[in-house]
Amino acid sequence: MYNTQMQHLIQQLLVQLGEDPLREGLVKTPERVETALKFLTSGYDADVDTVLNGAMFSVDYSEMVIVRDIDFYSLCEHHLLPFFGKCHVAYIPNGRVIGLSKIPRLVDIFARRLQLQERMTNQIAETIREKIEPLGVAVVCEGTHLCMAMRGVEKQNSYTMTSAMLGAFRDNARTRMEFLELLKLRHNTIVQTALPIPVGVSHLDD
Ligand SMILES: [Zn+2]
Repeated sequence: MYNTQMQHLIQQLLVQLGEDPLREGLVKTPERVETALKFLTSGYDADVDTVLNGAMFSVDYSEMVIVRDIDFYSLCEHHLLPFFGKCHVAYIPNGRVIGLSKIPRLVDIFARRLQLQERMTNQIAETIREKIEPLGVAVVCEGTHLCMAMRGVEKQNSYTMTSAMLGAFRDNARTRMEFLELLKLRHNTIVQTALPIPVGVSHLDD
């Protein structure tokens, strides 16, 4: 009765959870879940070069560029549950910049897949380094992980912080501090923390 293998698997999952997949509210659930999961993992099919195509420019500008408070929504690869929050991206151009509107698109590409927040943070930073070879790149992500919050592993209002600092942001403490001050993060502790900023609570083992 289901159109695809994935819908069949989701129907089986409902049965294993003790549900009746034929009751009214669940009849179309496999179809909806498939549509949702395909969107939430659409980053696998997205091509960075296509997204950035035509949006990298030569400029004579070497001050720090910051795009802050980029919303991201991702799925924890250990529990298939959402983690989401804000991502802040900075770089110091070395002759080339990326159109500002493309930075959130870049974040989406890496968020929309099964992820670890640490890996996502690194992938965003490494991609910017690779594409425009700036003097430095900094990415800071603060995320709420439902796999921890919903299970009571961690207090509900806590955040997991991750950072990737490349080039000038890694080598020059003053540059790094300037970035962190400009962010004025909700958590003042980050400004005082020596890098790398530790991840809140590890849930890698459970
Ligand atoms: Zn998890």
